[in-house]
Amino acid sequence: MSSSAAGVRSGTPGSPGSAAGPVWTLPASVLAPVQRSGATVEEAIAALATAAAQLTAIAAARSAAGAAEEGEIFSMQAVMASDPAFVAAIHDAAKGGADGAAALIAAGEVQAALLASLPDEYLAARAADVRDVASRAARILAGTTIPLPGRPIILVAEDLPPSVSAEIPREHLLGIALRAGSRTAHAVILARAAGIPCIVAARELEVDGSLDGVKAVVDGAAGTLTLAPSSADLAAADAVKKQGAVDATRRATLRGTPCVMANGTRVHLYANIGSADGAARAVEVGAEGVGLLRSEFLLLDRETPPDEREQMRAFTKVFEALRADRPLTLRLADIGGDKEIPYLKLPHEANPFLGLRGYRLAMIKDRPDLRALFASQVAAALRAAAATGGALRIMAPMISVRAEVDDLLALIKAVRAELAARGEAAAEYPAAIGVMIEVPAAALTIAELAAGLDFVSVGTNDLTQYAMAADRINPALVALQDASAPGVVALLRAVVEGAKKAGVEVGVCGELAGSVSGARLLTEIGIYELSMDPAAVDEVREGLLGA
Ligand code: PEP
Ligand code: MG
Repeated sequence: MSSSAAGVRSGTPGSPGSAAGPVWTLPASVLAPVQRSGATVEEAIAALATAAAQLTAIAAARSAAGAAEEGEIFSMQAVMASDPAFVAAIHDAAKGGADGAAALIAAGEVQAALLASLPDEYLAARAADVRDVASRAARILAGTTIPLPGRPIILVAEDLPPSVSAEIPREHLLGIALRAGSRTAHAVILARAAGIPCIVAARELEVDGSLDGVKAVVDGAAGTLTLAPSSADLAAADAVKKQGAVDATRRATLRGTPCVMANGTRVHLYANIGSADGAARAVEVGAEGVGLLRSEFLLLDRETPPDEREQMRAFTKVFEALRADRPLTLRLADIGGDKEIPYLKLPHEANPFLGLRGYRLAMIKDRPDLRALFASQVAAALRAAAATGGALRIMAPMISVRAEVDDLLALIKAVRAELAARGEAAAEYPAAIGVMIEVPAAALTIAELAAGLDFVSVGTNDLTQYAMAADRINPALVALQDASAPGVVALLRAVVEGAKKAGVEVGVCGELAGSVSGARLLTEIGIYELSMDPAAVDEVREGLLGA
């Protein structure tokens, strides 16, 4: 053990819980794509196809094991590996003189660069996933495998791509500490799903192998890795671990219990999802419905927009996964600004977060194609709901003024007329209509803005960004990215008051709803419809039941 192999390495909490064990460092070579010189383009494309098949199999196995969120990550990677654009990028790179392996890696970088340019933290993190797909294919091409720890360990690494974590036997992965990563990194999502304590962004963490064998404790809630822990540290870690397991089991028993607070207030817990797999997870944790389906997932990683049929099929799967009468709140595409979806050919903007975002895109005079995209989403949603008997709520993002609401109502009316003209029974199918409140100007004028709508849902992530003038993805502004700051709370109170006057339901689907303290704050303000990541539902339910 080196003399520096003691003390605490601090990072950001990723997945809660505590675990103790010896450090095992993932060799850096695993993160750098292996290159087999002399491979042909055909061999590279075949390796990519094998990677796609492997990822599909892993996704199916994880979903079958009840780990829907994990399955979702791997099925998204399988889609990336099957993307014709990836193959086209390999051909392009080969034209520039690269051999098969080099072309494969270069193509992975091209695909990753497209995703990395997105301002949404979650979507930008998917760039790592596509790079990981390229690495998996490169390993297949080179015929190499990943070194494995062979015993239970605390994994220390720069980063932990899904393809690597998929290879490490679960029983050997006690805890994870990463030098890179963010709260929305795939490693965090996987760790949460598997109940493995994880910290990320531990900038002082040595990842050169010098910590190998050193005993360590990961505290995922505190965001620390304690090296060479004292016996008191170990005892505390053990207690936290045991408590975590007890908490999870106890919370799971409450899944069928309606969320009624001690004062008799009934709170409705919904889930935020991005696919049909997410819907299955929402059902598993006893969410009463989906308060936010981020429909953008259908628009990414492709070269042309999806048509109405494709969207209808995808939405149908979500309704089917939700079963019976759980409502689905389908948010129309929240894209734009510098969230670049190349085929949409959006104009370059100096201040993208203050630019053409969300529903604003549907109203650009000379872009009938964008309006048609929103219309196709509405038509697909109505048809999917009608086909499954689902309870549909349609929601528009980034609304600032009444004129946008009027436009939304007109758009939906026009879509219904078009469906009727086509003889589609879905033309008459009921749907609640609402808007997201993410702009302070909207929050302060709900009474007029939302009159005639059925509901509003506050996106506290963006509302906080705009209220505090603090870019939501700038790590230097963490202190200002506080949805419970007095200025944001004042806006939330205004929303509740305005919604009462307008006679519309009000809910929250921003991250504030996904913590016990945030959920309690919202109920104090008078908001009782809370939508959150499925992983947060159990804890929030219990926290409110006891409040
Ligand atoms: C929000 O802004 O709070 C929200 C839920 O939307 P997104 O995070 O997708 O922008
Ligand atoms: Mg938002």
